[in-house]
Amino acid sequence: MYIQPTFADADAEYEESDFVIFGAPFDGTSSFRTGSRFAPDALRQASYNFETYSPELDIDITDIKVCDIGNLDMGCLVEDCINRVWTQTKQILKDGKIPIMMGGEHSLSIGCVGACTDIFEDVGVIVLDAHLDMRESYEGLDKGHASTSYQILKLIPPNRYSVVGVRSGSREEFEFVRSAGIKFVTSFKIKNEGVEQALGEIFDGLKDAGCKHLYISIDADVVDPAYAPGVGNPEPFGLSPWDVEYIIKKTRKMAVGLDVVELIPHYDFSQGAILFSKLIREFIAYAYVARGF
Ligand code: MN
Ligand code: MN
Repeated sequence: MYIQPTFADADAEYEESDFVIFGAPFDGTSSFRTGSRFAPDALRQASYNFETYSPELDIDITDIKVCDIGNLDMGCLVEDCINRVWTQTKQILKDGKIPIMMGGEHSLSIGCVGACTDIFEDVGVIVLDAHLDMRESYEGLDKGHASTSYQILKLIPPNRYSVVGVRSGSREEFEFVRSAGIKFVTSFKIKNEGVEQALGEIFDGLKDAGCKHLYISIDADVVDPAYAPGVGNPEPFGLSPWDVEYIIKKTRKMAVGLDVVELIPHYDFSQGAILFSKLIREFIAYAYVARGF
């Protein structure tokens, strides 16, 4: 019998865990390339590449209580899948733990954000994405992967939302975010100013909006295709892994959850799975140190 391995070093029991990883293998609305449903297992496999000791933080990830509860059963309808992710994420948050969702396509993040709004009144959201995802609907679907951020803005006020690393969207989407005053930082701005300077106004804005909790959604295509070619909609001129690492480090005290979505393992030589499984481990290590579990 084949037993699916858990994420490396995620062998705590659910009850005792501080971090809970789960997979949501659904890619039913993906338009250009499909296959992100295989990402959770690819991320798990790649996670065994790494040492447990972090020389940067001087901690061992085996000292952190992490549980991998496996993959959720996903149906065929995107609304059902979003609801299942929502229910699972809410349970984890209710139990005082930090959820880490491995997608699957980006629309699933709507469920994660929805669960956060059920638990935290003041939650803010940072989406890392090459795309605005602000379409009211796409290919007849209002909750497809191209409408994620539009749907997130139905759950939280615009001053508690930011999207980082953007470099693609329709004229209408950009007109919408500009006219609504929604904060977005392009990859070009990050390249020109450096990530710290470029994101200053984002963090100031979240502070002004009274956000004490923050949810982070990483669409894998935010990173340049040179580092992560296996994604649904590759878009050149992206962020470097260092930029994403900075954001994870910077938000470590406020972070209440994370997702990694849109990774398609079959379109690369596991660069994406290696990078994002490492970033998940970094997220766990930084949040653990910052919050002192
Ligand atoms: Mn997206
Ligand atoms: Mn994207």
